[in-house]
Amino acid sequence: MRLRYWTALASIVCVGTILTVREVRQEQTLVGLIGAPSAGLQDLDTPVETDAKEQALSRDVSLEEGARGPRPLDEERVTWSRVVSSGESLDVLLAKAGLDTATRAVVSDAIGSEFELRQLKPGHRLDLELRQDGLPRLATLEIDNGVSIQAVFGEAPSVSVLPPELETIRQAAETKIESSIYAALDKADIPTRFATDLELVFAGTLDLQRELVGGEHLRVVWRENRLDDRVIGEPIIDFVELDLGGEKYEVVWPGDASRQTHVFKDGGPLLSFVQPIKGARLSSAFGLRQHPVHGNVRMHQGVDFAAEEGATVHATQSGRVSFIGRRSGYGLMIEIEHAQGIQTVYAHLSAVNETLEVDQRIPAGHEIGHVGSTGTSTGPHLHYEVVIEGLPVPPLTDTRLSRSGDGTQRQMDVSVMIEAARDQLAGLLAANG
Ligand SMILES: [Zn+2]
Repeated sequence: MRLRYWTALASIVCVGTILTVREVRQEQTLVGLIGAPSAGLQDLDTPVETDAKEQALSRDVSLEEGARGPRPLDEERVTWSRVVSSGESLDVLLAKAGLDTATRAVVSDAIGSEFELRQLKPGHRLDLELRQDGLPRLATLEIDNGVSIQAVFGEAPSVSVLPPELETIRQAAETKIESSIYAALDKADIPTRFATDLELVFAGTLDLQRELVGGEHLRVVWRENRLDDRVIGEPIIDFVELDLGGEKYEVVWPGDASRQTHVFKDGGPLLSFVQPIKGARLSSAFGLRQHPVHGNVRMHQGVDFAAEEGATVHATQSGRVSFIGRRSGYGLMIEIEHAQGIQTVYAHLSAVNETLEVDQRIPAGHEIGHVGSTGTSTGPHLHYEVVIEGLPVPPLTDTRLSRSGDGTQRQMDVSVMIEAARDQLAGLLAANG
């Protein structure tokens, strides 16, 4: 009985093998599947064909197939999936998939080379792709946060750890400002963290307190990375249109290496700039304030961004590094000289980018260091100054630094960029209905 079963299977094995091989060539990603089965998978005497013979067989097969009606290639794969239940080991799961002891050992060894099998727990998921003969071609164990361990069984099993397949979803929404930007975002289910981005962007161009009287329209495009239905990481703002009735502002964050933010007013470019830290909250403004450490009223010569220890700090304009080191109060700091007698200062750092050197020329957006709390500081934050001809100026409202860069050759890119952003907004809003 058993003998007849295997004999009958042997002819199907050929078909299965050939079709599998052809698929693999199409995919061009899984290499090394062609050839003899690996140790432990050898209890079936799978014929190994030469290329020529394979092709001949393949032709015969397709004739036969034609007689029975065409079958899609995918039908040649058998898949088996299961979410791990309480108390189930990998071996138990593989037995449920119908694998014999020797094959189970091969699969377990392969997966176990990248994952501690005792850590298997309910909710993890095993996917098997089996050949016609019931032997595995592919075993994928999805563990936590969408990370997978994948074993490909060819001449020797090859195992890799795959990052989660995140899906980027772009969204758009429209809202009307009544009391504040924050409330308007909240009302329309737009991530409220964008209120910080908008506050920083408009600090240099628009007095939000005075100009917003209520009834203004705000349209936002953003993206989120999702794994199944969960949002992974922070949402990212891409484009904003603020319609004040008389005036219209547009802001585009292209998300490229330049890290620039571009502001348009009534359709024309107004300003492009780089923020020293992405998405950080402004914790202290420029000007007179009661000093948080000394207690008396002093001039605050820059702005403070509250951020996590270690957050990356970027140069806000192209320039030449003029100082790296410690100065009392400022702690570990970097100073950069830009065109037209302008300097920027980045203080209280925990670390400076290892490759950064004094006199080095760097582009806008360059990673220069990391947020810390060195010097006179009550917690991790970046103290950022813009100094023009020796005098500190308000960094968020003085536009001379932004205008000092070599922005002309990028003007073309920026207009293409904003056109694309407008189209995307219109398309997404139309899709929302
Ligand atoms: Zn400060």
